Amino acid sequence: MTIGILGGGQLGYMLALAGYPLDFHFRFLDPSPQAPVGRIAPRVSSEYTDLEALDKFAHGLALVTYEFENVPVEAARHLARKLPVYPPPQALEAAQDRLNEKKLFQKLSIPTTEFAVVESAGELGDAVGKLGLPAVLKTRRFGYDGKGQWVLRTRENLQNLQKEFPDTPLILEKFVSFDRELSILAVRGRSGETAFYPLVENHHRGGILRLALAPAPHLSDLLQREAELAARRILDALDYVGVLAVELFECDGHLFANEIAPRVHNSGHWSIEGAVTSQFESHLRAVAGLPLGETRMLGCSAMLNLIGELPEAAGVLAVPDAHLHVYGKALRPGRKVGHVTVRAGSPEQLAARLAELPAFFQREEFCLPVPASK
Ligand code: AMP
Repeated sequence: MTIGILGGGQLGYMLALAGYPLDFHFRFLDPSPQAPVGRIAPRVSSEYTDLEALDKFAHGLALVTYEFENVPVEAARHLARKLPVYPPPQALEAAQDRLNEKKLFQKLSIPTTEFAVVESAGELGDAVGKLGLPAVLKTRRFGYDGKGQWVLRTRENLQNLQKEFPDTPLILEKFVSFDRELSILAVRGRSGETAFYPLVENHHRGGILRLALAPAPHLSDLLQREAELAARRILDALDYVGVLAVELFECDGHLFANEIAPRVHNSGHWSIEGAVTSQFESHLRAVAGLPLGETRMLGCSAMLNLIGELPEAAGVLAVPDAHLHVYGKALRPGRKVGHVTVRAGSPEQLAARLAELPAFFQREEFCLPVPASK
């Protein structure tokens, strides 16, 4: 079976690596001729909007999925007229626009951050009047890794932004003083069966994920159930097939949904070594109509993102149960070029192993050391 994947970045790369043992073949479509999947699979270089190229790409494929959430919904719809496309295009539509996402959360009674739609500099003043300061202004579309966001703390911030008002649809959100950021990875199969990974605790620097701890330290059954309930509602409402990530804020023991990603997710990379079935294999099993695998953890894990630079492999691999993943991308500041997962039998052992990582990782931006469990 050949699976077509829209997007040819590291998520596609890791999907293919997970799929080859299951006898899947892959074909990728990405506008960039440098997309990293070129190392391991046939790749069509084309814009997503080129319908002729899409048709050629789709020829002979069993199904299409994506690893990039900003694939134009029209491209996904076009393909869906010819062959199965999972997750369904309506999931892309919901996830690509923060307003659609918020409306979905509200419709499903999933608590989310208070917000207001902002369409002009004048409306920004009204929205701040309603939500108060501090607040976060976000572009409705195409925001990622903290891009397309402005934190407004003072009236002066507001006035400056009103003078240079971004010419794009926006929403304003109340600033949440969360205790921590979490995410849940969920998977739904073609017949509606679901499975969930444990909640993960995420640490960012400069808007980019640096460290994910799986499971989230001090995770209670209650919190896990609350997250699963929210994720299940979204999966069912969208008639979803595949892996979905839900990013959440924890405040005083309660969860608020921030956003969803209709694809495998950076906060699930630990699952390659840290779970019985990785998020990548889970996604492929789901879209191919195979039984979902077990999502149970194997010990506990920490995943560290490598941003713009790579450590010496030998130093990482000298640490017991440490695993290095390099994506084959050109090294550029701010770019995710690889990750390291460290696995251990207990939070204490994990903290000790992380402390053994080379000096490269002992810098502030990696968000270590990790507090051992209470
Ligand atoms: P997002 O693109 O919505 O995932 O936002 C990127 C990061 O900005 C999040 O991971 C949070 O650290 C922070 N952030 C986003 N929205 C808010 C908010 N309403 N209040 C406080 N921090 C936020």
